[in-house]
Amino acid sequence: MAPLSTLTFDTAFRPDIGARVDVAPGLARITAPNGSPYTFTGTNSFLIGKASVALVDPGPEDAAHLESLHRAIDGRPLTAILLTHTHRDHSAAAATLAQRYGVPLWFGGQHRLSRPLRRFERNPIKRSCDWDLVPDRTLLDGETIAAGDMSVTVHTTPGHCANHLAFGLEDILLSGDHVMGWNSTLVAVPDGSMADYFASLDKVITLPYRRYHPAHGGPIANGRAHAEALRAHRQMRNEQLLAAVGNGARTLGAVVKVIYPTQPAKIRMAASMTMMAHVEYLEARGALKVTRGIFGMRLASA
Ligand SMILES: [Zn+2]
Repeated sequence: MAPLSTLTFDTAFRPDIGARVDVAPGLARITAPNGSPYTFTGTNSFLIGKASVALVDPGPEDAAHLESLHRAIDGRPLTAILLTHTHRDHSAAAATLAQRYGVPLWFGGQHRLSRPLRRFERNPIKRSCDWDLVPDRTLLDGETIAAGDMSVTVHTTPGHCANHLAFGLEDILLSGDHVMGWNSTLVAVPDGSMADYFASLDKVITLPYRRYHPAHGGPIANGRAHAEALRAHRQMRNEQLLAAVGNGARTLGAVVKVIYPTQPAKIRMAASMTMMAHVEYLEARGALKVTRGIFGMRLASA
């Protein structure tokens, strides 16, 4: 058996909502007032740069937050707006601000699904996505771009959604929703993909960044160790899913009841979305048999 990495979540983080918090030289965090079960204490916007700055993830279109961002920019030239991805809690204010400041909008390409929709299938998080936002420049894996008077390296990290990016500056990774310290990442198919998510965890584990600053919650002191623990956690969910089906669970609902027996409804909804992503992951690897019919999905051991 593989050694278990211990996964711990930091839920004690309390942001100073709206304030500019300098977290490293040339990196400031401004947390938006959009806390919720899915966004934890709210979306973290970041400013990169010293005499001139770039804005990462402007967040929701909330007047108070836009005012906080303006105060944090503090008259310095803004060079570009970057997005880790196009879920609306990160991107809703992007078009307004790009126009207001006259700056370009850079991200990993227009919002897209990780795979085409099946017949009769619906995207459970369709309304959380910014379908119409078009980048002025599509950022590519491995390229180094100017961010204010600093530079960042772009890393494609699909999984949470198809156009997800992480940004590296010196020994810091802005990890977006890919790796977070407060909770595991929601992977909802077909917006996201568990196979992509595993591959993107493997990817960041090999990159030389130490400290991670996620888009929700506080910083992660040892980001790679945390990414490894998240990987082990997802692998454990794969095994629990196979065991539940082996013990007779035939539907997604039955599996979720076995694996998350005591979770509140809202968390259980996220859990069943992520469990669905595990089903597809294991099915594609021939470890699980899935029969889809008009009455839903039946699971069986392969
Ligand atoms: Zn988010």
